[in-house]
Amino acid sequence: MDLTNWLENEALKLGWDYFGVADIRPYHDYLKSFSGDFICQYPLAIALVFRLSYGVVDSILEQEQDKQLSFNNYCYHAVDHLQNMNAVRLASMIEKKGYKAYPVPASYGVYQEKLAGLVSHKLVARAAGLGWVGKSGLFLTPQDGPRVRLTTILTDANLFAGQPTKSRCGSCTICIDACPAGAINELNTTTGLPQVDVNKCHKYQEERKKSWEVKIDRCICGLCQAVCPWGRD
Ligand code: SF4
Ligand code: SF4
Repeated sequence: MDLTNWLENEALKLGWDYFGVADIRPYHDYLKSFSGDFICQYPLAIALVFRLSYGVVDSILEQEQDKQLSFNNYCYHAVDHLQNMNAVRLASMIEKKGYKAYPVPASYGVYQEKLAGLVSHKLVARAAGLGWVGKSGLFLTPQDGPRVRLTTILTDANLFAGQPTKSRCGSCTICIDACPAGAINELNTTTGLPQVDVNKCHKYQEERKKSWEVKIDRCICGLCQAVCPWGRD
């Protein structure tokens, strides 16, 4: 078994649902604008995708406070904790094979002004060919739509990389219409990139936390994730 297949098997055994490899060299200049020259020592990135519980995602359609708080705890604590622990394990296995490996934690922003992490998990997963970034700005797989969470391992291991996937959103506007903050727009016609106003989304969450009188780190409404027809059946 070659190294790519061996690593995929190990990732699936650890609980991830989808595994892919991205050649991130074409994106180094963009990624350097966040993390600097550090990124250039890693030609590849491993995209790891975890399928969320459909029961949990469906439970937020009514936007009830108790389900919302539980949803946020599930995504940002339980699932991210599981992914982070397992990314540490997988990175250690890669290093023991003699390669560099840097596990990038799931969804912990380190650049607060950009609300961004060290590396964009979505960019990596798209470049690996596992799915596309929808109008909602969320990463979608053909199988589960945006009902997934992502993590990444940067590496210089000798792995077989996939090819980027195009958006399959088409003329759908369901997430645009559902967003209570008016934060989602059509894809940029020149770049094909999503145009989501993260500040509007963030402000909406903050105001709702205040009205609910809850002190938690985040309380994402998640409607753009729950209403998307991809993965909703
Ligand atoms: S999480 Fe809610 S407010 Fe933010 S973009 Fe999605 S639907 Fe809009
Ligand atoms: S709801 Fe429609 S437009 Fe929004 S991400 Fe899903 S498929 Fe794309």
